[in-house]
Amino acid sequence: MHDLNAHYLSRRHYIALSLLLCLPFNAMADWYHQEAAIMGTAINVELWHENAEQGRALTQSVMEEMQRIDNLMSTYKPESELSAVNARAANAPVPVSSELFTLIKHALNFSDVTSGAFDITYASAGQHYDYRTGNKPDEQQLQAALSAIDYRHVKLDPQQSTVEFLNPGVRIDLGGIAKGYAVDRSIAILRSAGVNNALVSAGGDTRVIGKRWDRPWNVGIRNPRNKDSIVSMIPLENSAISTSGDYERYFEEGGVRYHHILNPGTGKSTHEIHSSSIIGNVATDTDALSTSVFVLGVEKGLQLINSIPDTEAVIIDNKGRMHYSEGLAQIDL
Ligand code: ADP
Ligand code: MG
Repeated sequence: MHDLNAHYLSRRHYIALSLLLCLPFNAMADWYHQEAAIMGTAINVELWHENAEQGRALTQSVMEEMQRIDNLMSTYKPESELSAVNARAANAPVPVSSELFTLIKHALNFSDVTSGAFDITYASAGQHYDYRTGNKPDEQQLQAALSAIDYRHVKLDPQQSTVEFLNPGVRIDLGGIAKGYAVDRSIAILRSAGVNNALVSAGGDTRVIGKRWDRPWNVGIRNPRNKDSIVSMIPLENSAISTSGDYERYFEEGGVRYHHILNPGTGKSTHEIHSSSIIGNVATDTDALSTSVFVLGVEKGLQLINSIPDTEAVIIDNKGRMHYSEGLAQIDL
């Protein structure tokens, strides 16, 4: 009798144990998370999936997509498609993929909308700055670069899918829009794989779908003068947020902060704003707009954002004061 009972118990244990061991590997609804350093920044993906294997594979797909876009659009990679454009487009029209063509076209549209505050030809001067070594252009280099900065120097031919520069000094850089684009592409991959709840971020550009558990996602806006403190938490569902700051890449010399967002009119860093965050539907646009508002300053920046539907701004100026667009001014953050 005693033996029989022991046998019965151990059999029950066995069944319970095998359930515990097997179930998690085949089907385990859970959050899957991955981080990596790509595009010179921290990539972060978090998603809910019913299946562990697929959940992990999807976080990996996001990393691969980020890497693919970096290989295509990095100006640090001589073999990228964008580097080929920079090397040759002043001599002749350069054929490009429809993907690069479309993003350049989109970037030029933002130049129109911002009266040139957002301008990918900023790189004509930007190429002379190195924020790690503290290098900056001398006055002569700067003057030469200034005549090359003008988005109207970039000529697109949609029939041939080519890019041409109408001035020999032009260089372009998609650093103000490519990370947001990469985030949008990643979200598209997750969506088409049936993911309903996810967050993807690349540095200061984030987009979310669905919720985290039964609550909105929360994305923090940092104190631009203290990276460890958050000044505001923004609840988000099915939307994007991008923050541009003067604290990401910079060096200081003679009391001046040389950071990575340049006024295309002067070829120098702007100083009216410490951080600008834009909330909108897609990260490509919030990315371009956060850089734009940073250059435009508080007044013109808010004017622009208030004129664009479904788009809001949180700006921290150089006195540490916060400014909100009309749609946010009414709600208590
Ligand atoms: P990050 O997420 O890298 O901090 P931001 O969205 O804040 O990027 O944009 C800064 C980047 O935009 C710079 O590193 C540079 O590549 C690019 N950039 C700088 N000034 C301009 C400008 N006036 N117009 C368009 N792009 C710019
Ligand atoms: Mg940006």
